[in-house]
Amino acid sequence: MRRWSVLAVCALALSGCGPADGAAVEIEERFVDAGSVRLFFPPGEEPCAGTAAFLDDMVQRITSFLELPRPERLEYHFKPDGDLTKVCGTAVSYAGCSFPGELRLWSRDATSVHELVHAVADQDGTHYSFLAEGLATALGEENIWLFDYDAPESEYLTPGLMSPADQGGLAGDFVSYLLAEQGPARFMELYASVPHDASAEQFKAIFAETYGLSFDELLAARRDATQRFRQNRLLFPECSFPLMAFDGDTWSSEQTVDCAADAVGPSIRLSAITSSAWKAQTLEIAGDGEFRIEFSGTGGGAMLQHCQAPYERWSLTSDNSPLQSRILGQHSLTWGRLAAGRYALFTHADERAEPATVSLAITPAPELAACTAAEPRAIEDDVDGVYAIADADAARHVPFELGARRTATAAFQEVELCNDECAECAPVPMFEGSALEPGIVYALSVGADPYRQAEGVQLAAE
Ligand SMILES: [Zn+2]
Repeated sequence: MRRWSVLAVCALALSGCGPADGAAVEIEERFVDAGSVRLFFPPGEEPCAGTAAFLDDMVQRITSFLELPRPERLEYHFKPDGDLTKVCGTAVSYAGCSFPGELRLWSRDATSVHELVHAVADQDGTHYSFLAEGLATALGEENIWLFDYDAPESEYLTPGLMSPADQGGLAGDFVSYLLAEQGPARFMELYASVPHDASAEQFKAIFAETYGLSFDELLAARRDATQRFRQNRLLFPECSFPLMAFDGDTWSSEQTVDCAADAVGPSIRLSAITSSAWKAQTLEIAGDGEFRIEFSGTGGGAMLQHCQAPYERWSLTSDNSPLQSRILGQHSLTWGRLAAGRYALFTHADERAEPATVSLAITPAPELAACTAAEPRAIEDDVDGVYAIADADAARHVPFELGARRTATAAFQEVELCNDECAECAPVPMFEGSALEPGIVYALSVGADPYRQAEGVQLAAE
C-alpha cells in the first residue's frame, strides 16, 4: 500500500511525521545504519542485528534487477505496534506505507521487501498504481492476496489508488508474468512512461506502444498460460541469494540463528515460518535425485522450498510441525525425491529465545530396502495421532503392525497393505472409516511423487 498525498518532511531526525491532517506526530525512535538503509525502531523494539544489512542487500538486488539508481539513503521505520494511520494516513495496509519521492517508509514488519520495492521504484515520485502494486507484490515477500482475472478492470486500472486487498494479487501475478516473460527492462520502460493519474485508455495506449501487444491480449494470454507464481510473485527475496551449488553427492548446512548476532527479523509475514528470526540461503541442485533430508537442531526449524515449483515445498521443522507423530516423535527426518533446480532454504528460530543451531543435511538415499528389511513397528494401543514417516531407515516401505483394531480417519499420501513377505503390496483405500486390523503387516509407501514430505495415516481408536 502506498500513500499518495504529499506530506511534510520531518524536522527531527529521530521523529516520524505526516498524519493525514498535516499535524506532526512525534515518535521516539532509534536507528541503525547499514549501507544505504537507515533502520528506525522504537526503544526496546530493536530488530535482529542482521536486519538492516538484509534490507540494504535487498535494495541492492532490487536496484540492480530493475536497473534503477541505488539510493544514498533510504529511511525504513519499523513500527511493530500501534496505529500506522498516524504516520501513513488512511491509505495504510497491514504492511505499512511508503512515500513516493521520499525514499521513506513505515512498516509493522522489520523486513518488508514489498515496501522496499515501492520506496526504491518510486524514488522519483508517484507511479501508476496497478503497476506499482504489481511490482511490489511480484518482488516482495509472501502475501495472501488472491486474484481474479474476471474482475472488472475499473477495479484496478484506476488513475487513483487501486485496492491491493482486492486486486493486488492480480497486479502481482500479471507483473510477475511480464517480468518473467519479457524481462525487467521493458517493464521499467512502461513503468516510467505511464503517468500516475493515467486513465485506463491512456494506460492501454502506452502499454501497446511498449509491448507491441494490447493489454487485453496480454491479459488474456496470461489467463490462459499454465505458468503459476506462488502468491503471485517471483520469490525474489528468498530465491535471489548467491547460489550454493549441490552436485548431488552430499550437502549440509549448519546455521546459528541468533537475533542478537546476525539473524534477520522479526518477520511477521512469512506465513510458512512461525518463528520470527531467520537466515536464508539459495541452493541449486544439479539433477533430480532421491535423498534423505535430515534436520537437526535444538530449536527452531528449517524450510526448503523449490523456487520453480511454486506450489510444492519441503518443510522441516522441529516445532509447530503439523505432522508430529506420537509414535515417532518430532518430524525431523524425511525422505524423498528432489527435483533439479533452485531452492530457498530458510533456517529460523524464535527471536526472543536462545540462539538455535539448525542443521540440514541432504544425502543420496541408500538403495531402497525391501519391506521386510525392517521390523514392523508396533503401534501402541492408545495411539490415535498421525503416523508420519520420520525415521532413520530411509526405507521405501515402512512396515507397521497394530496391537488393536484401528480406524483410519484420514490418509496422508498412500498407504499400502503388504503381505507377510512384503513381496506384494496393494494400496489400502483410505476413505473415512477404513479399518486396519491387528496382526497384519501394513506398510506406508513412500516416494511415488516428487516433493512428498510425509506419508502417514491418522489412526483412531475404536
Ligand atoms: Zn503495496
